[in-house]
Amino acid sequence: MAADVLPQLKHTSPIFVLDDTIYVGGYGEATEIPDPEGSIRLLFDLLDGTRTVAELHAGVAARYPRVTLDEVRTAIDQFDKAGFLQNGAVTAEGLFDEYEIGRWERNFNFFGSYVSLDENKYEYQRKLRDARIVLLGLGGLGSHILLDLAAMGAGHVRVSEFDRVELSNLNRQILYRDGDIGQAKIDLATARVQEFNPRIEIEKRPGRIESTEDVERIVDGADVVIAVADRPKMELAQWINAGCVRAGVPLVTGGLETQRAVYYTVIPGQSGCVECWRTQVYQVDPVSAGLLTEKRRRNIGGDNAAFCPLVTMTTGLLIGEVTRLITGIAPPAALGRMMELPFADFQLRECERWDRVTDCTVCGHLG
Ligand SMILES: [Zn+2]
Repeated sequence: MAADVLPQLKHTSPIFVLDDTIYVGGYGEATEIPDPEGSIRLLFDLLDGTRTVAELHAGVAARYPRVTLDEVRTAIDQFDKAGFLQNGAVTAEGLFDEYEIGRWERNFNFFGSYVSLDENKYEYQRKLRDARIVLLGLGGLGSHILLDLAAMGAGHVRVSEFDRVELSNLNRQILYRDGDIGQAKIDLATARVQEFNPRIEIEKRPGRIESTEDVERIVDGADVVIAVADRPKMELAQWINAGCVRAGVPLVTGGLETQRAVYYTVIPGQSGCVECWRTQVYQVDPVSAGLLTEKRRRNIGGDNAAFCPLVTMTTGLLIGEVTRLITGIAPPAALGRMMELPFADFQLRECERWDRVTDCTVCGHLG
């Protein structure tokens, strides 16, 4: 630990004392620390982010002379490993201006819950602000996602949408209003979200996606793609997959299937792509393979059911995954596997898993 580190107890790790025991809370469980003499309680009281380890020791030793510097150092190391501490010497200076510091304060505290003493919580927010995100589709999921991206401080989003507002959209597409019927979604969504967060830069790419090349052009230069456009359903999934693989951009995608939400993540060259998945399904499961062909799906009928609570839940899953990819606070949860969230019990679980196929026509060349 560097000498100028100023250990600070996180607000997300509150402590309370009962008899001779300290309980450090947070994340639904409390850590128990025996403290018969009260010296550890004193150390916690001094952990306000203004003292070095040597100064902390001096403070504790003033009342408990037998406590050594090494003991204080060991305690700080243990608290740090347990996730209780952040470095009070770290500030947002040089990364964020005053407006941003005010706007993202609660985000900083959220990211702060992940850091250890040698990390900078502001860096996570900076990564969100500086990331280039592409959002394909501004319908049910897309309109929620764009608003939420603006709320969480994403700085650059490129959006693609061709559709206009219809009355039946308004049970879930929250960016549009009753008087908007017939107007282009991409213009309305962009204007409203920029009003909500003037700092977000939204680049519009209106029009239909009709090929892999279209996708490749739109996702060029992106750090991550969120795909929630859904027409034409089967071809679009293939174009988006192939376009993202060619561009080497991670893809987070998902949607609603009447009473369940599903989502999955592809990182080109690292996880199996959608074509790898299709290949495996065709080999082992002819019934599902039949369902995957557009012709037969048409006979089943279109997906015209959508209920707002499931849309908002799915939005959280998708942009939670995007946050993991961009900031690295945790590994992606749906890499190479499809997660499902049934409305019946809201238990998130894996429903499909696939590997890379070495001779995959889309991603096999990535080795
Ligand atoms: Zn593949």
